[in-house]
Amino acid sequence: MTNEQALTTMVASTIVEFHNEYAKQPVKKFSDKETAIRRTCAVLAEAGMAFDEICQLRKAEEVVEPITEPAKAPDPVAESLSDDELDGLDEFGVGVSEKSAECPHCGINHLGNGWQVHGDDHRCSERVFTCLACNGEWGPKIQRRKVESRQPRTDKDVKIAVVGGKDAANPYREGSASHKAFALIQGQPGITRAEFEAAGGRVRTMTHGLKIGQLRVVR
Ligand SMILES: [Zn+2]
Repeated sequence: MTNEQALTTMVASTIVEFHNEYAKQPVKKFSDKETAIRRTCAVLAEAGMAFDEICQLRKAEEVVEPITEPAKAPDPVAESLSDDELDGLDEFGVGVSEKSAECPHCGINHLGNGWQVHGDDHRCSERVFTCLACNGEWGPKIQRRKVESRQPRTDKDVKIAVVGGKDAANPYREGSASHKAFALIQGQPGITRAEFEAAGGRVRTMTHGLKIGQLRVVR
């Protein structure tokens, strides 16, 4: 409760006690209760004191705000979507814009929260888009090519590019070494591993990207 609310419940002599405990100039009494509350509120605010829920006066920063209702979890919508409907969704999920974007599984705005775009041959996902809040997937199914060997080639002269080219979303947190490494390859399609390393690119991101299909070897 506020100091004003707390003081309102008190008798005049109690208010005077609180006032005098923190005021530079003590008073005997106030002309009326309204003045008593107003002036005592000012003194308590100055002293950084606040009443808690049981009218105990404490340092203001120790008084915890009453717990507000937790935000209601968005309603899941995936049950209502068929396989075909999931196929047809774009990067906005069941929304139509950046603002209304919504993961079809958990209802969160995945564009604000985190999401991934997976290209062909991605091995951990079934569909192109993944919500990082619930790991739900939607969009077209990933087409896997039959490849003889999935062992990424990481020789120094191997040329690397981002799957999806300049339109691919950088899946890493902005500012991270992985984000920079991904951006480096995206900005120079066909960069060799040697050039990548010379430019300070993070090798682990490159090998991982090749492994999970975010990056590809240019032949
Ligand atoms: Zn989700």
